[in-house]
Amino acid sequence: MLDHVSTFTRSTVREAQKQALLKELRTKGIKNNLVLQALAAVPREDFLPKALQARAYENVSLPIGAGQTISQPYTVAFMSELLAPAPEQIPAYKVLEIGTGSGYQAAIFAAMGVRHIFTVERVPELFAVAQKRFAMLEVQAAMRLSDGTLGWSENAPFDAIIVTAGSPDVPEALAQQLAVGGRMVVPVGSQAYQRLYRITRLHAGIGADAFQAEEFQTFRFVPLLGAQGWSE
Ligand code: SAH
Repeated sequence: MLDHVSTFTRSTVREAQKQALLKELRTKGIKNNLVLQALAAVPREDFLPKALQARAYENVSLPIGAGQTISQPYTVAFMSELLAPAPEQIPAYKVLEIGTGSGYQAAIFAAMGVRHIFTVERVPELFAVAQKRFAMLEVQAAMRLSDGTLGWSENAPFDAIIVTAGSPDVPEALAQQLAVGGRMVVPVGSQAYQRLYRITRLHAGIGADAFQAEEFQTFRFVPLLGAQGWSE
């Protein structure tokens, strides 16, 4: 009985915190409905270690083990908005994520209606935990344990590539796996701070003139480690 009461109280409190967070995200400029609905639908607590679940709807990044973090909800919302498909694109839209981490960002894309999600993680223990979560929560995503800076060429080209770790430069292999019209969101900078870029592929050529870059604000991500990221 008491257990039921506390479970009920906990979920009521969390729902109120979630609504407050969604309001904060709107105030901060997030307006894509697909994105806002996905953030409302996906239980972020399910992507956190038990001890941190009570903090699921704080607008902060949180540790998920192996020295890694689940991104701040605002960061997830901002990046998702930069890559949101137009309604008519949804059925065939193909997304590649580098840095599965907790699996939360991939679950957000799934909740946005994206059916072709590919996600790469380099840390075996995080990969294993995310795999269990996807099975439990029925998130449809193809997973790979490898160095994501090299992309996933067998499944290219992608309409969207999201790099959820900070890179010293735009990984060339990833740029070449974009479809024409495809977009990549990638944080580029030092190990401490990165600026967010959105790279759009304009044509099938492989030269720099095939890509157009837009620059957004500064964020802090954990480092992208690998052949085309920071050396390990
Ligand atoms: N998208 C994640 C954020 C995780 S933090 C989430 O929603 O929780 C970034 C992740 O990138 C970490 O799990 C880290 O291990 C991973 N990572 C870093 N370098 C990588 C690489 N070269 N390939 C794949 N994953 C990488």
